[in-house]
Amino acid sequence: MIYLDNAGTMPPPKEAGSEFKEFNGLSDNFFNPSATYRGGILVKNRIDAVRNDLAGALRVPAEAVFFTSGATEANNWIFSGAVKNKKYGVVISAGEHASVYEPAMYLKNAGFDVRVAALTGQGTVDRADFLSKLDENTGLISLIHVSNETGAVNDLAALSGLARAICPKAVFHADGVQALGKLPLDLSASGLDAYSFSGHKVGAFKGIGGLYVKPGVSIRPFMLGGGQESGMRSGTENVPGILSFGRAFAAFSRQAAENASEIRGNFAYLVDRLSAIEGVSVAGDPANNAGYILTLLIAGVRAEVLQTLLYDKGVAVGRGAACSSKKPGNRILEAMGHGKKEIEGALRLSLSPFTKREALKRAATAIEESILTMRGYRIG
Ligand code: PMP
Repeated sequence: MIYLDNAGTMPPPKEAGSEFKEFNGLSDNFFNPSATYRGGILVKNRIDAVRNDLAGALRVPAEAVFFTSGATEANNWIFSGAVKNKKYGVVISAGEHASVYEPAMYLKNAGFDVRVAALTGQGTVDRADFLSKLDENTGLISLIHVSNETGAVNDLAALSGLARAICPKAVFHADGVQALGKLPLDLSASGLDAYSFSGHKVGAFKGIGGLYVKPGVSIRPFMLGGGQESGMRSGTENVPGILSFGRAFAAFSRQAAENASEIRGNFAYLVDRLSAIEGVSVAGDPANNAGYILTLLIAGVRAEVLQTLLYDKGVAVGRGAACSSKKPGNRILEAMGHGKKEIEGALRLSLSPFTKREALKRAATAIEESILTMRGYRIG
């Protein structure tokens, strides 16, 4: 199987698997990390070592990183935690993942002032429209860092600098799920107050993620209970998930650093090879892309059928966010100005640092052949 749906989820590297056996109650190390005897302390130390590694990669203090059940929880948390009453205005973009968009719409329906900034045709936030949505009452801004639909990168340092001049007290949050491990990150220098991330996008087990909250930024705890995660997110920690995250993230980052030029070359290869097919274009600007996600707009083909055909040929690809696959259309491609017909032909290919050029060549051939076959059927 050639797997090109890594933005949906990434297979765990072998190193992560051994953590599962060791820590999911299958061995002696089953202790509750809150237990005060040596076994518990050992497990707690292992958790904190992962927290340290992630914090180091994000260039933030370890105590500012909180583990959650994933980025959906982290994104929901920032809405329930930072928006304290109706005086807090909220600004998001039309390019947000459902786990930001839906909490924002929930608040809007409850009568909060929620504004949605437009996207450009390239899939980034329209800067002028974004700035026009901000005012001194804005209490929370949430923007996606790298689009899970198109790979487009928002320049958060520039946007947060501009936003600060209008609403210095607003909490500026970013959904960093598709950026973690893929872009150089220095959150302390970025002007951001909070950042969400997810483990399974870098090869950890599903059901683990986290939220960075800048020290001094006031957000309410998400879960109340036994006081785990410094009282901000109670509940016994997902120990195997956290440890798998540590292993997977280390493997991912190492591979991304060692193979940086090959990864860039792989992306450029796909763009060149596939956009040369008649009636195929790339959504967004390949020059402003984190280099792991490529969405093709394929004329005269229903991507749903193409996806199945490719899967049968041993090539797994996506069609936009897997978690929104139950919703018709594509809110984000629509916001970029694409029509219904174009969206029907939208296919998402997403790479990992481990993706091999040889596999991409075979996948590209399968994609081209399948498109031609399908168009042949349509005409005939
Ligand atoms: N935000 C983005 C940009 C994503 O791509 C995803 C995963 N599809 C999420 C949030 C949700 O992450 P999780 O699966 O960890 O809840």
